[in-house]
Amino acid sequence: MSVSLKAKIAEVFEEPGCDKNQGKSEKERKKGCTKQLNPGAAAGGCAFDGAKIALQPVVDVAHLVHGPIACEGNSWDNRHSASSGSQLYRTGFTTDINELDVIYGGEKRLFKSIREIIEKYDPPAVFVYQTCVTALVGDDIEAVCQRATEKFGKPIIPVNAPGFAGPKNLGNKLGAEALLDYVIGTVEPEFTTPYDINIIGEYNLVGELWQVKPLLDALGIRILSCISGDGRYNEVASAHRAKVNMMVCSKSMINIATKMEQRWGIPYFEGSFYGIGDMSDTLRQIATLLVKQGAPADLLERTERLIAVEEARAWERIAHYKARLTGKRALLITGGVKSWSVVAALQEAGIEIAGTSVKKSTKEDKEKIKEIMGDDAHMIDDMTPREMYNMLRDARADIMLSGGRSQFVALKARMPWLDINQERHHPYGGYEGMVELVREIDRAIYNPVWQQVRIPAPWGDDGETLGAVPTAAIPEVPAPGMGFLADIAAKAMGLEPEEIPV
Ligand code: SF4
Repeated sequence: MSVSLKAKIAEVFEEPGCDKNQGKSEKERKKGCTKQLNPGAAAGGCAFDGAKIALQPVVDVAHLVHGPIACEGNSWDNRHSASSGSQLYRTGFTTDINELDVIYGGEKRLFKSIREIIEKYDPPAVFVYQTCVTALVGDDIEAVCQRATEKFGKPIIPVNAPGFAGPKNLGNKLGAEALLDYVIGTVEPEFTTPYDINIIGEYNLVGELWQVKPLLDALGIRILSCISGDGRYNEVASAHRAKVNMMVCSKSMINIATKMEQRWGIPYFEGSFYGIGDMSDTLRQIATLLVKQGAPADLLERTERLIAVEEARAWERIAHYKARLTGKRALLITGGVKSWSVVAALQEAGIEIAGTSVKKSTKEDKEKIKEIMGDDAHMIDDMTPREMYNMLRDARADIMLSGGRSQFVALKARMPWLDINQERHHPYGGYEGMVELVREIDRAIYNPVWQQVRIPAPWGDDGETLGAVPTAAIPEVPAPGMGFLADIAAKAMGLEPEEIPV
């Protein structure tokens, strides 16, 4: 590992905003946050993957991966991060190094690739990602990027987070460090207002940011820069002129918030866009901090008026679903900020929490869950797929909300499942997103397919799963039953269904 990378990692582990690291001894902190994997357990993404996830949503930039083609293949566009303009971020650029590059070094190939991108696409900047192989053969991407910046007169940004540096979470922070070192503060905005904010750690998955932006627009609050969802290079580069920073995804890019506070005195807070109450709290916190920073005081009153109107509308729209969902139990397997804000959102819909995983949650996240759920906080540090399966099979939960990797556990137990993680297909941000979330949970739980798949097979070979699902767990919905098969057969034979010979 190069000296500069080692120093950068040590710096990230010193992060004052991360209480988990601050709570560790000096020796422990040096070891980092990587846990020994259990044999058979799925490993999360690598540091390169984390850096790419954090930065790829900057949409007008060319993201060039310096390494074997598989690194780019693994990380390409798997998160539904949406753009309102340029689609360049979705083009996979890689130097695709070969054996000769490994022997002689891949720096020349990297330089040529940068030149080709600039000639063909002319982006405002190129982000160059280091990977394991190119780091191990000693390619100095910082030097190549500096040379290319001078030669082409455009910012070429090195993102030094090779996979072996650590886990995905560390990669998020190393990606953020690249922005701090080379991007933020390098461009002045055309104009500023007392209502300028940055949103940090929001990736605009499935367009969630666009569910929140109209609320800020209504208050005259400008998103000077979103890091990094639907972001533009020049906006990120001018982020240092914002009055307030909001941290969205727990601690994934906390280093941007803390360092911007140190360098430019921009205060930050951690908020959430999920659920009615949390969305309102977030608007209040933004307004309060902006007023403290010099915005006119009437912003507070205008914010309260907007909250009252939007909350009333949201409650009215979820009332129908709430009546159907009250008392249902959800098993929530997610992490970070979602562990507490989704808990609150589910409770608003009348849903009880059968259990929530807190594996990726910070100490503060856990405190917030306790605050919301009191003594009923069923927090689970680490849950094996077998335990999840048993919980669902025994109908201790009516639905599982998790990422795609766990979906088959729920489906095997023949229980409803909803994707709540980064690969989701529905946006759940703001008041609008809350209605969408509740609607999707309702659709999942009351889908008639569950009655169909729980019918015992005629050959009776699935006793374990089937026999254990109590009938009480099956929602009462009109099911088509098996009669439709008789109808189809009768039509094909030109007979009435009752005439079909058994
Ligand atoms: S671990 Fe290394 S080789 Fe694998 S995807 Fe990450 S950067 Fe590429």
